[in-house]
Amino acid sequence: MVATLLSIFAAFHRSEVKMSGQKEVTFIMVKPDGVQRGLVGEIIKRFESRGFQLVGCKMMSPSKEHLEKHYADLKSKSFFPGLIKYMSSGPVVAMAWQGKSVVKTGRAMLGATNPLESNPGTIRGDFCIDIGRNICHGSDSVESGKHEVELWFGEKTEDYSLCTESMIYE
Ligand code: ADP
Repeated sequence: MVATLLSIFAAFHRSEVKMSGQKEVTFIMVKPDGVQRGLVGEIIKRFESRGFQLVGCKMMSPSKEHLEKHYADLKSKSFFPGLIKYMSSGPVVAMAWQGKSVVKTGRAMLGATNPLESNPGTIRGDFCIDIGRNICHGSDSVESGKHEVELWFGEKTEDYSLCTESMIYE
């Protein structure tokens, strides 16, 4: 009896751990150059096709103050003023994506910061050339994923199940 209860508890715990892994979030943004070049659909398509779940999406023109918060860790870099100018040159599409290992996999899908060092098959490796026009952003750690989703969406992301979930996760 005790053994049965323990095995039920262990199975429940395993499924909880699995589920919480699938709830990892990352912040992906199509930058102003990506929007202007008509690459919003292409970038969304790649994340959707991979099996990740869109839980937040909005087009917006972020203020300089907001961008300075987002890029606070780069404040001392010589390219910082140019980066803020570029990022505020037009609307962006801000997105929150959810799924197992979405932060690491999202970064791999984006490619290297410098597009010339990005492999073909990655978003930057397929669609851009200059580091200062690299069309998309993706969170670089699980912590910054949470922080950036909170910064751009507050509490306003969606909590829903995909009906295809059992076809994506075993
Ligand atoms: P990532 O966006 O890949 O996380 P970083 O956080 O280091 O890379 O940099 C943020 C953004 O700043 C880059 O995506 C790029 O647009 C810009 N950037 C980074 N390094 C340079 C550079 N040397 N010159 C111009 N822009 C840069």
